[in-house]
Amino acid sequence: MRKWERLSMMFTPRSLLILIAASALLASGEPRMQEITDRPRSSYGLGSAKYLEGRNLLYSLFVDTPQSTWSREEMEDTLQNLNRAALYIEETAQEYGQETKLVCDWQENEDLIGRAAVDFEIADDKDFVDRLDQEIGVWVENLVDYGAMTEEYGAEGIALLVFVNNPGTSYAIVYDGVDNPKESVVFFAGEPPAVYAHEILHLFGAHDLYQEAEYTKEITDYLQEAYPLEIMRTVTGQKGEIFEEDIVNTVSPVTAYHLGWLDEIEEADRFPQLKR
Ligand SMILES: [Zn+2]
Repeated sequence: MRKWERLSMMFTPRSLLILIAASALLASGEPRMQEITDRPRSSYGLGSAKYLEGRNLLYSLFVDTPQSTWSREEMEDTLQNLNRAALYIEETAQEYGQETKLVCDWQENEDLIGRAAVDFEIADDKDFVDRLDQEIGVWVENLVDYGAMTEEYGAEGIALLVFVNNPGTSYAIVYDGVDNPKESVVFFAGEPPAVYAHEILHLFGAHDLYQEAEYTKEITDYLQEAYPLEIMRTVTGQKGEIFEEDIVNTVSPVTAYHLGWLDEIEEADRFPQLKR
């Protein structure tokens, strides 16, 4: 069974903060402990997708590579999971007393979808990050007009969703004050809706809450105990099950606070590293 806990974070040479969340294999043996004491950099209130309130746009770009192409049916399956994730986020926001709308259904809005191709492979065993990063830099300038689209839809923000139709480790490219403020996510084939929601939440300030990612072990141990199904901690069920259609995970008060849905939480006093 695939595991989802071992998710990691890295910086590209261009200092884009890339938050990874997907199916890295669980390493054997004891995980290496790393003491993290600083507050992690945040994308909350920054970049093209600032706040998860009001209306935000998600533009889907389906990218063909030498290794993989998209059929219409596969694109529609992807949209189904994206719609599930959007609905989950909207309903969860409501539980926290917040109104938010993610406009992403390109069957309803034809200008929310595009196609592109690259001449290199995009997969975990390939060295693609810099080249894809460059392509994304061009797409967000020339292919998707962030300013015009947000104006047209009366939206607060926008992000580009890049879909690649082969397996890989999906990740969000968020703006934390350095480099390109036009935010995006790269999604690989076969991701369940919980992964979609996890990555989209990153754009608006949510942090990875699993072990060895952004917070100390003391904090991740606490979160594991207090909020075992928290969506920024895990995207599976309690026993590691992958849900292809439903999202069984929760948005804990910690993530709600990181998203600005709550003004304060007791955990931020107890663990100052969790402060927004
Ligand atoms: Zn993540």
